[in-house]
Amino acid sequence: MRIRHDFHIHTELSLCADESATVENYLEIAKNIGLTHLGFSNHFWDEKIPGATPFYVSQNFSHLLRLKPELACRADPHIKLYFGCETEYDPIRRDVTITEKTAQQLDFILVPNSHTHLVMPRDFYQPYQKHVDFMIQAYEDILSSSVYRYITAIAHPFEAVGCPYDYTILIDMISDDCFKRLFSQTAERGIAIEINVDSMHTKTKEEIAACSQMRMFQIAKECGCRFLFGSDAHNSKAHDSYAHADLVAELLELDESDILEIALI
Ligand SMILES: [Zn+2]
Ligand SMILES: [Zn+2]
Repeated sequence: MRIRHDFHIHTELSLCADESATVENYLEIAKNIGLTHLGFSNHFWDEKIPGATPFYVSQNFSHLLRLKPELACRADPHIKLYFGCETEYDPIRRDVTITEKTAQQLDFILVPNSHTHLVMPRDFYQPYQKHVDFMIQAYEDILSSSVYRYITAIAHPFEAVGCPYDYTILIDMISDDCFKRLFSQTAERGIAIEINVDSMHTKTKEEIAACSQMRMFQIAKECGCRFLFGSDAHNSKAHDSYAHADLVAELLELDESDILEIALI
């Protein structure tokens, strides 16, 4: 199937995105490559929840809201725009960093269990098992969050961001049974698994077929999880290889019933 949605896009409001990450540029690209659903997911830590790390202090709700008028004035009859966020997992509270009241004001919410570069103590990088256990704990805490009903998808599951070594080592250390346990609960809760195309962009089809994430996605599919694709774009070049989303969908033999409804309606 053709993947015509991208529910993981950062604009220049995200501190780590560049000035080319504008709604205008993304819309132009979406028209050129045939995308019909664009979900904007800037980094976010709700200021009503204490403990924001320095990266998140200014990325609060009033900051996030600056995108709303921009989306309203860029309305396009052929491309649906969604106002969302990529919020965080807080290991201190063992919960996500968004309140229910704020969650109700968003079209969709991504939560990663793998921003270990931002929220995990640095001495957890070694031994690898400690890093794996942190992400599994984070994943379980996200599923049992007080606001889990509002969570749309787990962003880049187990793909440890900014990891000083190859994070696929960590995915390979997680057993099928562990993934089955986690993904069965994910499916029960109606939370989708994100397929983050950014991690595939330099790979050939054969390399994608053989990569560690594919075992994880296959198990998620068998457990009845729905998927949501995302580019994790932080600049206007991020969609140059977004056709890789179609390759992943083909390799996993996905059809519309495997995709979360929000990306289809
Ligand atoms: Zn992320
Ligand atoms: Zn992101």
